[in-house]
Amino acid sequence: MKFELAPLPYAYDALEPHIDARTMEIHHSKHHAAYTNNLNAALENSPLFGKTIEEVMVQGMETPAIRNNGGGFYNHNLFWEIMTPGGSHAPEGDLLNAIVEAYGSMDGFKDAFAKAATTRFGSGWAWLCVHKGGKVEVCSTANQDNPFMPGVSCGGFPILGIDVWEHAYYLHYQNRRPDYINAFFNVINWSKVSERYNANK
Ligand code: MN
Repeated sequence: MKFELAPLPYAYDALEPHIDARTMEIHHSKHHAAYTNNLNAALENSPLFGKTIEEVMVQGMETPAIRNNGGGFYNHNLFWEIMTPGGSHAPEGDLLNAIVEAYGSMDGFKDAFAKAATTRFGSGWAWLCVHKGGKVEVCSTANQDNPFMPGVSCGGFPILGIDVWEHAYYLHYQNRRPDYINAFFNVINWSKVSERYNANK
């Protein structure tokens, strides 16, 4: 079975003014579509064909086309899912407790997350991951790598991620990556992030 590009769960302009419609359209319909198509092409005649995306990412790490496009496919699915129009809601319950335990406060978490996203040199992602037992951790990876991949210095199950490739912000923010990161906090779908936390803690 081939991997399919799911429709964006909201309109291209739904995250305005924080993320502009043109960026969303190109990001989803061109970039994410290309990762999906290229992943399917890379999996043709591969023993990994038919496996889950999580298995593909881990077991295909030594093959650049599978690693890069498998990560690109998964990471963008997560990215669309953990954003929502209409402003954000703060985390609550167990996730909030875990964030406060790890970072002192929501502001402490935001600083750590923004720092990871800002200081990722070149292209990549910053993550909030949960480890078994419920502890959360901020980390970042290069390119389309993902915390599932062994040896990327970032482990656990990713519950929140921000794409800091220039294609994610350059049309609107140009070189101002920190402004894009600040804006991202306004569109986080914390109920989705909590769901991912609760299901994988
Ligand atoms: Mn991207």
